[in-house]
Amino acid sequence: MRIALISDVHANLRALEAVLLHIVSGGPVDAVYHAGDVVGYGPEPTECVELLNKECAANIAGNHDHGVTGKESIESFNPIAVQAIEWTREHISKEALESLGSLERARKIEKHEILLSHGSPAFADRWEYVMSVLNMKTALEATSERFCVIGHSHMPFVTELDKEGNINPYGKGPGKVYIKPDSRYLINAGSVGQPRDQDPRAAYVLMDDESIEVVRVEYDIEATSRRMLDVGLHLALSERIKYGF
Ligand code: ZN
Repeated sequence: MRIALISDVHANLRALEAVLLHIVSGGPVDAVYHAGDVVGYGPEPTECVELLNKECAANIAGNHDHGVTGKESIESFNPIAVQAIEWTREHISKEALESLGSLERARKIEKHEILLSHGSPAFADRWEYVMSVLNMKTALEATSERFCVIGHSHMPFVTELDKEGNINPYGKGPGKVYIKPDSRYLINAGSVGQPRDQDPRAAYVLMDDESIEVVRVEYDIEATSRRMLDVGLHLALSERIKYGF
C-alpha cells in the first residue's frame, strides 16, 4: 500500500500540480485522498476541482467549499475570506460548482481503514480545528477507524493513540512515524495551497504499510501570488502564501 493524503488545496493549481508530480515521482500510488477545502483563497478554482476529480480516489467538502456552494452561511468567515468566496462564486464554472456541491462532509474508505473528515470528526455539525493534544484525543476517541485523516488548520501532524490510551503527538516531521499494529492515528495532511506553519512549501502526507510521513514540496509561489493579484484577490492572501502563515 502506498497512499497520498492531501488537503486544503484552496484553488492553488501550481501547488497542486507540484504535489501530484512529487507523489508519483516516488513510485505509483494506490490512491490520493483529499480532506476538503478544494477552493477559497486561490485563483484557479475550476482547474483545481477538475484536477482533483481526475486524480483523487475520494474527496470531501471543507467549510470553504460549503461557503462557495451556499450550503453554509459565510457570516462567521473573516472579511478577506468572504471576499475570496464571493470572487470564487463569480469565477468558478457551473460544472465545478455542482461537483463541489456533491461532496460529503466525511467519508469512510474501508479498504484502507481511513476516515476522511475536514475538521474534527468528534463534531460532525461544526468545523472544529484540531490544534491541541486534548482535541487530538477527543477526535481519536470519537472514531474507530485506524487512520483518521483531517485538514482545516493547514498545519500537518501525525498523532498516535496507543493501545494503553496514551496520546503521542509526533509533530510535523521531517521523518517517518512508524505504524504500530495496535495503535490508531490522527493525521493532519496540512495544506497544499496555503500552509500556515511558517513553511510556505506545499504539504502532503505519504503513507505506506510501515510508516506515515509529512512531505514538503517547492512550487512557484511567486507565480501564484502574482496571479492572485492579477485576478483581483486580496493582497493579504497573495502575501501570506510567501511566508506560510
Ligand atoms: Zn482550509
